[in-house]
Amino acid sequence: MKKEEKVPEVYEAYLRLCRDIKYADAAGDAVSAAGLFDGLRSADPSERSRAWDSLCGAWNRRRHDFSALLARASAEKNSDVQERFGVDPAPLLAAVGDTRELLLRALERKAERIGAGKFRFCDIWARVRNAGASGAVPLPAALARLGDILERHLEGGKAFVEEVSAGRLHLEEQAVDCPHCGTPVPGGPVHAYMPLRFGEVRPCDLPSLAHELGHVMHCDLLDELAPGEPVGAVFLETFSQFLEGIVWLELFGGAEFRALRGDLLLDKLTEETLDLLLFPAMLEFEGRMVASAGKGPLPLEAVEGAYREILGKWFGVSPEGTWFWMRSKTLYDPRWPFRDLTYLLGRMVSMELVQRVRTGGKMSREEYRQAVADTISTDFSGYRRRQGRASPMATADWAEMLAPVRDMFK
Ligand SMILES: [Zn+2]
Repeated sequence: MKKEEKVPEVYEAYLRLCRDIKYADAAGDAVSAAGLFDGLRSADPSERSRAWDSLCGAWNRRRHDFSALLARASAEKNSDVQERFGVDPAPLLAAVGDTRELLLRALERKAERIGAGKFRFCDIWARVRNAGASGAVPLPAALARLGDILERHLEGGKAFVEEVSAGRLHLEEQAVDCPHCGTPVPGGPVHAYMPLRFGEVRPCDLPSLAHELGHVMHCDLLDELAPGEPVGAVFLETFSQFLEGIVWLELFGGAEFRALRGDLLLDKLTEETLDLLLFPAMLEFEGRMVASAGKGPLPLEAVEGAYREILGKWFGVSPEGTWFWMRSKTLYDPRWPFRDLTYLLGRMVSMELVQRVRTGGKMSREEYRQAVADTISTDFSGYRRRQGRASPMATADWAEMLAPVRDMFK
């Protein structure tokens, strides 16, 4: 987003601390973060464990420093989520909570498939061996394929990918694996930045590429529709997830065998786990931290106790996600309280858009433009009007939007 705001001091201190993290393997030798995040995606369960232990150890060594920053950031946050997002998150979280059991059962199936025995937190990112993990192609070939896929569902998709490839897509070395978008020149157009591993793109990484290009696409349109104006939380992740969803649908539809489709589904479970289990858990954790910080000091034991309790509730007993509260940068930026809600909201609305192209055929430029315009406002009213409804979103409305997830994993 282009809105230039001064970076809060506590967030700068957090970023410095993250840059300072040193990773080592079991023997104490230095290893790269990129290598460890690759390890988390590995098909080999012991390699995933090793990567997880190195990550966990490196962050845990600084947990006192992180908890001090978390206390400061939480104390600076406005806790009124409804005011911030223009939507009450409680009915949404209730609907998402209702799909929890189903997702946990799917995670157990995935654990079996990837040789872990039972679900472990460190397996969330694991790629299923057959599910498009082979057949990597160089980035230009992947972009050509992506352009073709998008064009089948979205008017102008191919020309857009070609235009962005010609100078607004960059590979960079990243300390943590984190594709993102930004404006290299203040006020200029948005560019996409992918980690170096995207020099070779596997089919299972195509949706991530589509996601970042989706941000570029909606930012370009935003410059036309509402230049410089504040945008709603729904808007931020909807259209990146929409493009991601389109690409995934193609990969899934193109799978020749039933067994392969099953593997692709288990592979996609990573996104569902993050959006529908981890982000809701982190939102609950953030709420707890903001409320506690308002009452007084926030000792490390209180932080870790709350984290274990909340994560245990969403993921079952012993989720071993002990360091993830340190890794979640949104917790440390007072400008964006409850930022993870944007991923959840974007996921919900994008699912409906994906359904629309699935049943209604190729989306015209005008329809895309209208969908973007509907979500720019800070509440859900434009979106609801298009649905022919005026009432605020209720749990049943959210549950209806989650139907594709239930259909996929039941
Ligand atoms: Zn995004």
